[in-house]
Amino acid sequence: MRVVAVPCLSDNYAYLIVGDAGEAIVVDASEASPVREALRREGVRLAAIWSTHHHWDHVGGNEELARELSVEVVGHTSDKRRLPGLTRGIDAGDTVRAAGIEARCLHVPGHTLGAVAYYVEGASGAGGGGAVFTGDTLFCAGCGRLFEGTPAQMHASLTSLTKLPGGTRVYCGHEYTENNLRFAAHVEPSNADVTRARERAAAARARGEPTIGTTLDEERRTNPFLRADSAEIRTTLGVPAGADDVIAFAAIRSANGVYFWGGGGGGGGGVGVVVGVGVGGRVSRRATAGPHGATHVVRNAGPPRSRVRAPAVDALGTDCHARSIASHARHP
Ligand SMILES: [Zn+2]
Repeated sequence: MRVVAVPCLSDNYAYLIVGDAGEAIVVDASEASPVREALRREGVRLAAIWSTHHHWDHVGGNEELARELSVEVVGHTSDKRRLPGLTRGIDAGDTVRAAGIEARCLHVPGHTLGAVAYYVEGASGAGGGGAVFTGDTLFCAGCGRLFEGTPAQMHASLTSLTKLPGGTRVYCGHEYTENNLRFAAHVEPSNADVTRARERAAAARARGEPTIGTTLDEERRTNPFLRADSAEIRTTLGVPAGADDVIAFAAIRSANGVYFWGGGGGGGGGVGVVVGVGVGGRVSRRATAGPHGATHVVRNAGPPRSRVRAPAVDALGTDCHARSIASHARHP
């Protein structure tokens, strides 16, 4: 199995999971043309489209590719009426197979109620390192906003992902890592793993490579949304040491909204957390790729693409995705 990152839109990633028989699956066909080009470049046929959730920037190429290449479109069964091209509804625990690849479906509500992640076990002898495709649920060093779910749902969803083997590589829907780590350093300044991760991410971006493909073990050490039990994070955010992890998670989610947006936490409101931080500065991102990862080869599937600029994408940080999709006519 090889994973090929396909930059789409301004900072989305689609992924080809390339099997052994000249076929591939695409996870989150954001746009048809870069996926089509990646298939051509890799010399593989498309066998299926697996969607993590219904947001337009993850499914924009579904119908065109499915019609053209006669493949099934997989997504959560509850999204039958809103996920373009959906032909196969799946739910937690289901298994999907295509291109000689088998994935276990995890239902991970929070960002949306129909969000799913696809877990592909690693080859034996590869350090147990499989791959999980998390869409906008778990980002490298971050997590998606809570458009439809509650903090408790998202916390449970993230917890279910952390139960996968620690060597599992995380392939998420956006190149948000540098901003996410900036927030991580803000809430947990003495976390040396975060400091090192920031250096690695900055170096990768300077080389024009993606930052995705971190392991779940790394995420546990650096991702504040997986660290609700961190004493330092709780102190930063004024969450009592004895408070439930869901309360702390909601506080982190809320503080992230304040940090990047100056208000609102995507469902974390009402926690009463005040953080004395300003709006994040301008950060530019470029979704290009290069060799990355030990177990799977991730590489660029094409040249840098022209940007589809949404003003909020350029001006805001981690959760610019929210404003980007909110401003898009096709998004419900
Ligand atoms: Zn989304």
